[in-house]
Amino acid sequence: MQTFPVGLLQCNCSILGDEESGEAIIVDPGGDGPEIVRRVTERGLAVTQIVHTHAHIDHVGASAEVKRRTGGAAWLHEDDEWLLDRLEMQAQLIGGGAPEAVALDGFLTEGQRFDFAGSQIEVIHTPGHTPGSCCFVLAADGRQIVFAGDTLFRGGIGRTDLWGGDTAQILESLKGKLLALDDDSEVVTGHGPSTSIGLERRNNPFLSGDARF
Ligand SMILES: [Zn+2]
Ligand SMILES: [Zn+2]
Repeated sequence: MQTFPVGLLQCNCSILGDEESGEAIIVDPGGDGPEIVRRVTERGLAVTQIVHTHAHIDHVGASAEVKRRTGGAAWLHEDDEWLLDRLEMQAQLIGGGAPEAVALDGFLTEGQRFDFAGSQIEVIHTPGHTPGSCCFVLAADGRQIVFAGDTLFRGGIGRTDLWGGDTAQILESLKGKLLALDDDSEVVTGHGPSTSIGLERRNNPFLSGDARF
């Protein structure tokens, strides 16, 4: 597995490669399409799925290009499709032009599973940062890795002041779904360093009830 920051806003993109089958799943190709494609082809991987934690421009910015060049199927939760349809509006906020919107192959749903490396990746719908925000939970080699997008950061949570954001909802998603996972679950965040569920349960002020909104 490789995780590396892409694009202007340094969104963490992950490439999950299964050396045995030669298949790969890409999480959040938010920018730097050529770099993502280079990393995939240099390892001889065939991309089966391209999954998105949500449709903010910094997480979907290179999706169309990566899909065109790798042939992977693109997935997003239906409740974020309206954001994918409004990349122009989103681009105005951060500056720069709007990238091409990826053509989706399917909608992510709560509890959906993708086969990967003899194991599975499960989709959890965690609305709040955006209505269609999802996290992906990979169980592999006895450990669990959560791709949290912008729902959970080390010491923080996703902002809820953008289109369709909802503070009560993100707290419900975090406390009801993410904190239900094991403490030793590793968390790959949407921006910045990784963390674990246990660390955030203990130290994250938004989850311990200390923070005021
Ligand atoms: Zn976001
Ligand atoms: Zn982001």
